[in-house]
Amino acid sequence: MTSPRHVIIIGSGPAGLTSALYTARANLQPLVIEGLEAGGQLMMTTLVENWPGHRDGVMGPDLMGEIRAQAQKFGAELVQAYVTSIDLSTRPFTITTSDATYTADSVIVATGASARLLGLPSERRLMGHGVSTCATCDGYFFRNHEIAVVGGGDSALEEAMFLTRFASKVTIVHRRETLRASKIMQDKARAHSKIVWKLNSEVEEICDGGKGEVTSMVIVNRATGAREEIPVTGVFVAIGHTPNTSLFKHQLELDANGYILTRDGMKTNIPGVFACGDVQDPVYRQAISAAGSGCMAALDAERFLDEVPGHLQS
Ligand code: NAP
Repeated sequence: MTSPRHVIIIGSGPAGLTSALYTARANLQPLVIEGLEAGGQLMMTTLVENWPGHRDGVMGPDLMGEIRAQAQKFGAELVQAYVTSIDLSTRPFTITTSDATYTADSVIVATGASARLLGLPSERRLMGHGVSTCATCDGYFFRNHEIAVVGGGDSALEEAMFLTRFASKVTIVHRRETLRASKIMQDKARAHSKIVWKLNSEVEEICDGGKGEVTSMVIVNRATGAREEIPVTGVFVAIGHTPNTSLFKHQLELDANGYILTRDGMKTNIPGVFACGDVQDPVYRQAISAAGSGCMAALDAERFLDEVPGHLQS
């Protein structure tokens, strides 16, 4: 067991690394346990045009590399490891990875949420090259293009509505005849002239015609078995997100969908444990809002540590 830390941050997306930057600059010598998907969801994107300060956009992996280096410059220590268990029942809290066991007076949870994927090899291969899980991030690239949204929930319909601002046609592909989305969202989407529907249909393949960019998709009607190739340059997969909270079940309060509940800033139900980024945000899910909440969690942790009797900020 290594000596106790002031703060351990679990996760290394925009939220985790921003909290690392702030806690490092507060001389708390944070340890960041980067996790399996180091850098978070931005590592799977190409050009990010909505990160303030980059007029011409910035590549997602480059942005994460910069934030990581900035946190390290101020003394954050990063380890490439995956947390296998955590004990938040007593302080200092205990965090175990496959390689080591750590203890800390405060913990910042920034484990993010993973966009659910269809599971097609072509979907992974063309991610960032026409396949996207974020309309807000990537919609702009599809001006006057014909594109598709997969899913039948509120997210899918909301993304489809948003994408009509750019695309000339948005095909919604949903695996059942009935939509899961709320009635009001359904009514809005059904009334939109740019939206067409492929219900009872599943995506069988996303094609690139050898170009390395999406050119079409093949869907299969579940009732008839009929296949259809639809020309599209973008496929937005909007079949939900799964917050990465399995480690914290029965320790931290979660909402009905498994997101960590935060209150009064970024506090969780356990004093000294904070959460930031997508793991506690089912609504905004933006890199910049995640980074903002990472800053808040760091300041909350700093204030908490200030009040821990005998806590030395060496
Ligand atoms: P969701 O409600 O769980 O819907 C996911 C959709 O994706 C469902 O239609 C589901 O199909 C489909 N799906 C799941 N796995 C699939 C697969 N492997 N292949 C094909 N389709 C698949 O998720 P969500 O839309 O992200 O919404 C999550 C929560 O946030 C909901 O409570 C929602 O109401 C809320 N939300 C609210 C708003 C708003 O109020 N403005 C906006 C967005 C989200 P089935 O229907 O067949 O299961």
